[in-house]
Amino acid sequence: MTLKNRWLLARGFHAPVCGAVEVLDDTLIEIGEDGVIADVVRPSEERYEALKSSIDGQGKLERLPEGSYLLPGFIDCHVHAPQYPQLGSALDVPLEVWLHKYTFPLEARFVDLAFARRAYGLLIDDLLANGTTTALYFATVHQEATRLLADLCLEKGQRALVGKVAMDHPENCPDYYRDASPDAAVEGTRALIDYVFAHADNASGLVKPVITPRFIPSCTDAALEGLGRLAQDCGCHVQTHCSESDWAHGYVLDRYGMTDAASLDRFGLLGRRTMLAHSNFVTASDMELLKVREAAVAHCPLSNAFFAGAVFPLRAALEKGLHVGLGTDISGGPSASMFEASRNAITVSRMLESGVDPEQPAAARASGKVARIDFRDAFHVATAGGAKALDLPVGQFAPGYAFDAILIDCNAPGGTIRLWDEAETSDDLLQRIIFTASKGNIAKVWVAGREVAGTQAPARGV
Ligand SMILES: [Zn+2]
Repeated sequence: MTLKNRWLLARGFHAPVCGAVEVLDDTLIEIGEDGVIADVVRPSEERYEALKSSIDGQGKLERLPEGSYLLPGFIDCHVHAPQYPQLGSALDVPLEVWLHKYTFPLEARFVDLAFARRAYGLLIDDLLANGTTTALYFATVHQEATRLLADLCLEKGQRALVGKVAMDHPENCPDYYRDASPDAAVEGTRALIDYVFAHADNASGLVKPVITPRFIPSCTDAALEGLGRLAQDCGCHVQTHCSESDWAHGYVLDRYGMTDAASLDRFGLLGRRTMLAHSNFVTASDMELLKVREAAVAHCPLSNAFFAGAVFPLRAALEKGLHVGLGTDISGGPSASMFEASRNAITVSRMLESGVDPEQPAAARASGKVARIDFRDAFHVATAGGAKALDLPVGQFAPGYAFDAILIDCNAPGGTIRLWDEAETSDDLLQRIIFTASKGNIAKVWVAGREVAGTQAPARGV
């Protein structure tokens, strides 16, 4: 048998089901020319030894180095690409002040394509180096700069979903930064969708367009109605913010007499491909609605601390069977690392359960609910969970899924993983990776089988 495809011999982990980690132990992974996994063969299978010898004999087997572990690439379900220049700053005021004081002025600068190219190029490079193989991006209101973001994702090989932000409400958006009319918001969105689908370098659909009403306060009813109709027509992804802060949640209740989730549903914006960022203040009936519509939540734990004053009840959402992904919320969350987002998701879930006021006795301090998640849950939500939430065939090592992966080098001197002499169980090893890995440990990053980043990546042209 002559083998056409290449094969990897790998150790690693993935978590197709929440709470359960599967260990890949000297597993053979076949990758097709289209970057899709064609076969996965484990040592327990009868055909394993003969197949391995055959692949090896034909020089098609790449052995991943000792001490290196393969993980699915991270799926960042909430990134504001134009906010990257203010990452780690502007965290001192509430959301409604932050938007006007810092964020709208920064986003308005993306009318300048040279500035956009510099910021977006750096962001994509940094996210890939951090192991984010798929990103769901809010861009800006600008057509040209948003097209450039899609171009750069294709050029650099990042799987991405890109949305031109729609925001046309004259009372809540500044004159210098908004769509000129509801029609401009809707038609601008349609133009971006057409551009991405027709892109000469996007035949494989690596980049997808997203209908992106910023959030209800920034949109008129006419824009929301038009975007809802567009979503129904084209079946594209939809992203927006939902019940992020007390102010945002209260604003929608005042305007419509119903919650964000119910209002978005009324406009036809809640469906299988909808990603709602934050959703901290969703009610029990909102959760039920999300489940019925199969809509997803992007949990952004670090951002919750700065802008929500509350923590999304991830455990409850997972137990209800909602689709949930994890997001950095650059720059509302001051880190571009999905390892950090995973760790923060674990940390804040513990605090949600235990409470945090030391003046209260333990019993009064506690929420009274089991809210904690562990590293297995966080790993799932950051990979396979986010992929399922986005309805994309990535996030796990199985036939039919794209080979989007990262290789963790536990021995990298510039990394932050330190393993000691005692024998590690596999589960414990993954725990150590989740809690202590950083960019310096990410040796290779593949998207659709193509090596695109990592400390051991081949040098790339400029
Ligand atoms: Zn956001």
